[in-house]
Amino acid sequence: MFDRTRERPHDNTLDPTLDVTEIFTSIQGEGPFMGRPAAFVRLSGCVKPLCPWCDTKHAWEPGESIPVATVADKVSSLGNDLVVITGGEPFLQWASGLKHLEALLIKKGLTVQYETSGKILIPSESKGFKVCSPKHLDDRWHYVQENSLRADCFKFVVKADLARVEGFVKDQGLAANRVWIMPLGDLGEDQLALSPGIWAFCVKKRFNFSPRLHTLFFNNQQGV
Ligand code: SF4
Repeated sequence: MFDRTRERPHDNTLDPTLDVTEIFTSIQGEGPFMGRPAAFVRLSGCVKPLCPWCDTKHAWEPGESIPVATVADKVSSLGNDLVVITGGEPFLQWASGLKHLEALLIKKGLTVQYETSGKILIPSESKGFKVCSPKHLDDRWHYVQENSLRADCFKFVVKADLARVEGFVKDQGLAANRVWIMPLGDLGEDQLALSPGIWAFCVKKRFNFSPRLHTLFFNNQQGV
């Protein structure tokens, strides 16, 4: 498999491009912007170790190289006031193009929200709203600790690992109102089965609860 896990080495400021998997419109299905219509820009490439449960494996592979200005115009033409930039790991492309896209989108008056795993350092210059979803695999968190000060909020998809998430929140000194907890499950019925327990956990710990609307309503269907 083509290795998409290394940070791109150059800063192509004269003619910046982005490696894009897809651009589409939908509704943000989870987290603090849940329920809002949005344009989604999914950037290609992720950071090892890759998550076996990943539901966007198609973003691990190379996408289409598109000039930043073209991406910005496409997003603008979709008519949403919110754009979610996701991946893969979007911040892999910060220096090579993403910082230019963020500047263009903000100039156009859009709200920029990022989805990041926090496996690499979140750029301090980014003015977007950073939602970080730390990953635990191979018995440890794969997470850059400085991101606890750089992300705006954190979200965790959980099943029985509530104590592990609570430990992370405590170790990182995260305020409860920066944390969103969501039920695991590729099927709506799985989410519904877990939700009462997670609801009670959130009430007790003062965490935010979020469903994952796209899988709750459409199961594991792609393209919604
Ligand atoms: S960090 Fe996200 S996009 Fe990357 S492999 Fe894990 S789940 Fe998939």
